[in-house]
Amino acid sequence: MQIKPTASKSDVNRDKVAVLKDGRKIVMEIDTKDLLKENGANYYALYTGANAYFFDNPAERIHNCVLIKCGSDYYILTIPMLILDLIFWRANVIFNMPITANEMYSYAPEHLNKNTFNNIIEHVTQMLVDSQDRVTPEISKCLADIKDRLSRFSQNFSSVKCNTISIWSILQFRRRNKEFNELFNTTLDPTKTIKETENIVKACEKRLTKVIAEDDFNCFKPYVMSGRLKNAQLAKVVCTVGTRPDIDKTIIPRPITKGYIHGLQNASEYYMETITARDAMMTKNDNLPRSGFLSRKINRLTSDIDINYSVNDCGNTRYLDYFVENADYLDMIDGKYMLDEKTGKLHVVSYAKDKALIGQTIKLRTFITCNCKVGVCKTCVGTVAKRLKGTRLGTLPPIKCINPMSQKALSAKHDLGTKSIEITNEALSKYFHSDGMDFFLKPEYASQRELYLVIQSDSVEDLVNSNVDTSDDEVDTVIALDYIAVRDHGIDYEIENEGMRIALSDEILANKKLFIEDEENTDNILIPLNKLETTEDPLFYAILDTEEISKYLNQLIGTIDRNTVNRYTTYEELVSAMIRIIYESGFVDNIIHFESIAKSMIRDKNNKTRKPDWSQKEVEYQILKISDAIMNKDLYTAIEYQNLRNLFKTASIAKRLGTSLYDPFFRVSKNR
Ligand SMILES: [Zn+2]
Repeated sequence: MQIKPTASKSDVNRDKVAVLKDGRKIVMEIDTKDLLKENGANYYALYTGANAYFFDNPAERIHNCVLIKCGSDYYILTIPMLILDLIFWRANVIFNMPITANEMYSYAPEHLNKNTFNNIIEHVTQMLVDSQDRVTPEISKCLADIKDRLSRFSQNFSSVKCNTISIWSILQFRRRNKEFNELFNTTLDPTKTIKETENIVKACEKRLTKVIAEDDFNCFKPYVMSGRLKNAQLAKVVCTVGTRPDIDKTIIPRPITKGYIHGLQNASEYYMETITARDAMMTKNDNLPRSGFLSRKINRLTSDIDINYSVNDCGNTRYLDYFVENADYLDMIDGKYMLDEKTGKLHVVSYAKDKALIGQTIKLRTFITCNCKVGVCKTCVGTVAKRLKGTRLGTLPPIKCINPMSQKALSAKHDLGTKSIEITNEALSKYFHSDGMDFFLKPEYASQRELYLVIQSDSVEDLVNSNVDTSDDEVDTVIALDYIAVRDHGIDYEIENEGMRIALSDEILANKKLFIEDEENTDNILIPLNKLETTEDPLFYAILDTEEISKYLNQLIGTIDRNTVNRYTTYEELVSAMIRIIYESGFVDNIIHFESIAKSMIRDKNNKTRKPDWSQKEVEYQILKISDAIMNKDLYTAIEYQNLRNLFKTASIAKRLGTSLYDPFFRVSKNR
């Protein structure tokens, strides 16, 4: 984050440095230690002055520089960089902390990426929290002020001196760079297969990103390097659009041959493009409710977790083995405690200082196994606990993990691409054959006894228990099943194929008398396949996850809210699976949110309604899917959630104790 001094003492001869070698002017010299004097009077004057000076004539003054003395080092900054630094130094001035080399922030293109400003804010926040040892209202106010000033500066700056994409710059880029020119002129061959076309588009995207990064003058560079422009989107504009999904998520077998910058080439490309626009709207319609529902479930599940500030260290000795795969994985555990196996003591993981941990598996202190009876202790959470005072730890996971996914669904239109899938599931290829997206029972199984489709009753409950006319086109019968399996002589073979979900066909849904309850597990419904009148009607069809957003959302739901959750036997596997999905979907979150979710999914091995007592020496636990975990929480959370009918089927519900955030809504008196 900090920059190397850009000038040395010998340069500080006014005659010499008044004009730099490259012709830029030095208009002022500043010593950072002067800025703090007299309650920052110099600082405030300089901040106002620098803004006025710059915005008075931005075109001419943008390249002018100032010479900054910080300690014994000298730095050269342009005026806009100075203004940015001054905004961040506000924290030093208000809290009277000397401006050191650590606060010389760099905005040079080679250091700039999408995390630059986050990292600086992070540094400032940590500096303030360390100095006060907790978050005070003054700190919050100062940080809010800094952010406010940054956004105002950005607005003002954009209106006078803004990056822009210019045709002229693109033409120049083509002229000086042969590879870019070649990419720009990409034309797909419509006779190639979908897979080949997809590979060509992917390769274009990769090469384009590289070419842009290596060239210093093209107008795309600032957007690509800062992550403000998605590479896939840019490749569609510049190189080629490629294949597009149809309304039913199948892939239209002809590509859009050139990039958008060339315009659409003929009527059929125009037609494909309009279909995609419609599909994007349907994607939103499909995914937003699903991610919203997941968000609500996680909220019900985790919101009771709170930090118990009266307990510094519970003495928890169960660690989470964590593989630090790369720098981002290190970032996710910044500020957590880990066991230093040599000394046996705890060490605070630092993203800035502990790069040596990359590639290692470490023992991370985790609050999943915190011994506290009430809340979780500060040490199990990590040093971030200091910053969370006044915030309920368990309310963060839906905001931090799920909301970004919803945001992604909202921008589906820009992300829409295609990805052909392969059928890899054995049960699927053994018992069924497909035509397009529709799946039919193979005729040789038509009269086999003891062959059933198994689905979960709650996923079709609404349709089964109501009198809706499924043949009516107005009725939405597309219900993607959470679980479907083939039962052959008592053994269930789950149908789960990467990249797709399955929904029952209208023909099956219209034939509700086929559905029978599974005597072994009342949560299931069976469809006996030898009772079908014909094998010529489709049984179910595939919904392809062509867009990234539904892919990750489904993976996450598959990881924490399907029956397959029970494949995880340790919290380590569960946490690492969650982290991987969120990470691959493009986000980096602190591990504490995943700890909250995992902690809430864990129950005593013998009693689903009880949390394990981690203070015991031997603990056996089980991991429930999140809807189960909510249903088996304290009485009021469970009642408040859903599926009351099932809830009251078991007599044990009356014995469920425990308190939750929802107690006040039931007017539970404390002195009862
Ligand atoms: Zn603890």
